[in-house]
Amino acid sequence: MNLTPDLATCNYRSMTPELGVPISTSVGKPRGWHGNKEKGIPTKPYLNSIAPWGVFNHRPAYCEGEFRRLYAERLEAKADEIDAGIERYSLEYPGQRLVLLCWCTVTHLDDYCHRRMAARWLEARYGIEVPELALEAGPR
Ligand SMILES: [Zn+2]
Repeated sequence: MNLTPDLATCNYRSMTPELGVPISTSVGKPRGWHGNKEKGIPTKPYLNSIAPWGVFNHRPAYCEGEFRRLYAERLEAKADEIDAGIERYSLEYPGQRLVLLCWCTVTHLDDYCHRRMAARWLEARYGIEVPELALEAGPR
């Protein structure tokens, strides 16, 4: 990749237009995420390559180690596709931050959530920081 992408993560609930370009990365997407041209809703960006397809069944908390291992393998296997997708959206939305979205509420940067695992992987891959825009206060 010839460019340095500007990336962040967030959840659907906290995402607002000012934060950047919303990019879905979840297996299940919010209703209407994929636009219906007849209704004038534009197609929303989606990075299928980052969604935890085939890994999601291992999501239960007692499987965290297995989920992390399988998802890390998937990221490596999809690395070229992920690069291409991020480059495409970076060129399509120049100067704008791409915000990778899923459903989870996270309380710290390494919480058990695939978007944060992807963020750490992308940080190492591109030498950038991928902040979380929806950090919630942890339990007291
Ligand atoms: Zn998540």
